[in-house]
Amino acid sequence: MKPSPLAEILARRTAEGELYEKLPNDRVRCFACGHRCVIPPGFDGICRVRFNEGGVLKVPFGYVGALQLDPVEKKPFFHALPGSRALSFGMLGCDYHCGYCFTGDTVVLTDQGPTTFADLFASCARTESRPDAELAFPEGRSVVAASGTLRRLRGVVRHPYRGELVTIRPFYLPPLRCTPDHRVYATTDPEAPPALVPASDLSTDHCLTIPVRVAAEVLPARAVRSEPVAAASIATAAHGIRSIGARTAILEYDDPLTADPHAIVTADNYLVPLRGVEREPYEGDVYNMEVDEEHSYLAGFFAVSNCQNWVTSQALRDPSAVAPPQEITPRELVKLAHEHEARIVTSTYNEPLITSEWAMAVFKEARAAGLVCSYVSNGNGTPEVLDYIKPWVSLYKVDLKSFRDRHYRELGGTLERVLWTIRALHEKGFWVEIVTLLVPGFNDSDEELRDIARFLVSVFPDIPWHVTAFHKDYKMTGPDNTSVATLLRAAEIGAAEGLRFVYAGNLPGQVGKWENTYCPGCGELLIERYGFRVLRDRVADGHCPRCRRFIPGFWRVPAAGAEAGAGLAAR
Ligand code: SF4
Repeated sequence: MKPSPLAEILARRTAEGELYEKLPNDRVRCFACGHRCVIPPGFDGICRVRFNEGGVLKVPFGYVGALQLDPVEKKPFFHALPGSRALSFGMLGCDYHCGYCFTGDTVVLTDQGPTTFADLFASCARTESRPDAELAFPEGRSVVAASGTLRRLRGVVRHPYRGELVTIRPFYLPPLRCTPDHRVYATTDPEAPPALVPASDLSTDHCLTIPVRVAAEVLPARAVRSEPVAAASIATAAHGIRSIGARTAILEYDDPLTADPHAIVTADNYLVPLRGVEREPYEGDVYNMEVDEEHSYLAGFFAVSNCQNWVTSQALRDPSAVAPPQEITPRELVKLAHEHEARIVTSTYNEPLITSEWAMAVFKEARAAGLVCSYVSNGNGTPEVLDYIKPWVSLYKVDLKSFRDRHYRELGGTLERVLWTIRALHEKGFWVEIVTLLVPGFNDSDEELRDIARFLVSVFPDIPWHVTAFHKDYKMTGPDNTSVATLLRAAEIGAAEGLRFVYAGNLPGQVGKWENTYCPGCGELLIERYGFRVLRDRVADGHCPRCRRFIPGFWRVPAAGAEAGAGLAAR
């Protein structure tokens, strides 16, 4: 596959990594993040910015992809040098990737007839590049969703993928190839409604579903009836669908006039049995799309889930991460911090763990100059990377996106790894704050919020937990904005479970006391805020001015060159 111009530029701004080990046959194992990629020569890791060049792991170095001056409250750190400025830099790359994609030859049904994913992408009027994917935006196109109804197509995503694919082989229709986590509508019981099943969990006991309404629109009337129908009818459906519209899909399927198991017609769907499910290695582009309302579409005529992961993962990212790379030295960054009176330097925007060697080069210079260093991270850590950054990093924010492992797997990680990282960060003496962006319908149930709060209490009840409001961005129509009521409900759940410092963010002036810090002992107002602005700071040397209770946090800048944790007042 030809590298993009951006990838070529980035490949030049590299240095040999330190967070890896050499393996036989010039392979390397990277341990900068929880994926612990084993990378053969000539390949890159899941993050796509660390790669094996002749048995040497090359890592990003010497550039920033975003640079900004922010209040530390925006990171957010609420218990660290209140009101300070943080010089924030990011690089490119992310170690969480979409696991919901099909190969480009997969046929999808659109308002203009069947087409392949690759052709649909190519037909879009406008495309945008992301560091790890390309997005294509159609004008006025619709696709057939799982209900059989046309729904507006918002965009198609294409990105490189290297890993396992699942090949689903239905009777009578061509096979489908998708990433293992991709969920498809399937059932083992014709009496039960189809449910979303990850492709890797499918077996020959399952049937895939084709909405009857689709068949009704394109099939002769004899093919649609409420009793079990012969295989030939399903094959006819494929012919019928094949013949509609301007574009023609290339379909190859078996002779329908065999003794293969019958498909079944229910009130809503054709249920098509499977002849096999296999796994195979793959390297190449994969595709998905974002569909309005139902978040589903037909792939190879079968109902599958929309890549809501793409929607969510884009929403969870900071748009500042996308910027042309700009060469800079650690010394220049420190100089900029001083010029702008920043007391903190932060690696943020992309995932800092995967560019830790560069961040430490900056932070060594920054610590020597008396600056406090911090990470804003997804928490996909390893023992090696945490020990590597510990001498330099004082503050560490983790995005705890959900307490459901399946959500993390959709994003390309695991919940267990993030929970391990949070606990390890606290035990190793970093000042840790946690953020959960509340996305309606994704992670905002009482039960899930309670699970998060209970876990955090089990680590350290004084960990600040920021529940923040999701705003529709990224041209989305998916989840709604987070309401004030939801934010308040989450904050109250956190406090009821025993967290002493819970904050509600992204809705300044609307969440009452939840923007402020109060003494857990006497209730005294300690820090008053409006959004990211500190209106009053009454924490005197880490204590409540009224009852003198100790308030955990990072309240003073350690001396230049002192150990990174020296400003911590947490235990
Ligand atoms: S940083 Fe993570 S994703 Fe990137 S190569 Fe290393 S282990 Fe793999």
